[in-house]
Amino acid sequence: MATDDLKKIKHEIPFSSPVQPVELALDDEIQFHCHKDIACFNACCKSIDIQITPYDILRLKRHLGMSSSEFVARYTTPFAMDFHNMPGLKMNTKPGTSECVFLTAEGCSVYQDRPAACRYYALGSMGVRKKDSATVEDIFFMVKENHCLGHEEPRTLTVRQYREEQGCDEYDEHNRAWRDVILKKRSSGPTVGAPSERSLQLFDMCSYDMDSFCEFIQTDGFDEVFDLDGQTKKSLLENEELLLQFAFRFLKQVLFGEMSIPVKEDAKDKRMARRSESQARMNANSGGSAPESGTEG
Ligand code: SF4
Ligand code: SF4
Repeated sequence: MATDDLKKIKHEIPFSSPVQPVELALDDEIQFHCHKDIACFNACCKSIDIQITPYDILRLKRHLGMSSSEFVARYTTPFAMDFHNMPGLKMNTKPGTSECVFLTAEGCSVYQDRPAACRYYALGSMGVRKKDSATVEDIFFMVKENHCLGHEEPRTLTVRQYREEQGCDEYDEHNRAWRDVILKKRSSGPTVGAPSERSLQLFDMCSYDMDSFCEFIQTDGFDEVFDLDGQTKKSLLENEELLLQFAFRFLKQVLFGEMSIPVKEDAKDKRMARRSESQARMNANSGGSAPESGTEG
C-alpha cells in the first residue's frame, strides 16, 4: 500500500515524468540490466542532472588525487537546495553539452568511484519521514526513460540485489546522517527561520570540504570549545570516513542543538575573554580608547 508521502509525491509527478509511481520495497522484483554491450551504452551519461553527496566527494577526490576544495571547484556547480539557500552541488557537464565531465569514449572514467546517483539509476530512492514517526524510511521506485533499454533486458532481481550489485549500501550508510540533517531542516519549515550565514558556511564545509574541516578541528578555537580526547582526535585525523560522520554530528549540534560532542565547561568564559581582548586591541589600534599608552608598533 502506498504511503501518504508517496501519494503526495505522485501528485507532484508531472504527467510525462519517467518516474514510475509505484513504491517498491527491498524484496520487490525489478526487470533491469545495464551492461557494456547494450545499444544505449552511456546514453544516460549524456544528459545528466546529478546531485553530489558528501561521500561522493570523498571517493572522487581520492580517485582523482586532489583536495576536496579543488574537486568542488573543478567538477561541480553550486545550487540552492531550498528557500533558505542550503548549499547543494551538481556535477558539471562538458562545456555546451549536458554530458557528464567524466564520460569518455570507453565509458565512465571514474567508474569504481562513481556517485551514488549513478549507482542507483534506473532505480530511484528517497528518504521519507512518515507522519508521527521519528525514523526516516527509504522508499524506492523505477525511473523509465525512453533512451534506456535496460528495462527490456530479460533479467529480474530484487531491489535489494540490485543495490548490492551497484554498491549503493555503502554510499547510503556514509550519507545517511547528512540526509537526516537535510530532512530535519526541511521538516522544521519556514517558521523556524533561516539559518545564519555562519550556519550555512558550516553546512557547506561539513558537507563538501573534509580537508578544511580536518584543519578546523585542529585549530585553537575548536579546542577551546570542544572536549575531544587525543585518541579520538587522532582517529578522526587518520580516517576520513570517521571524520565525515563526526562532521555530521558537529552539524547537528550547531544547527539543532543535539549535543553529542562534549563541550568544555569554561568554553563560554574563554570565548568572552578572547572577544574582550580582541575588542581592546581594535580600540587601541584605532586610537579610540587607549591613546595614552603612547606605544608604537
Ligand atoms: S560519473 Fe560516470 S556513470 Fe556517472 S554520469 Fe558521469 S560518466 Fe556516467
Ligand atoms: S541501459 Fe540505461 S543505465 Fe545502462 S547505459 Fe543504457 S541508458 Fe544507461
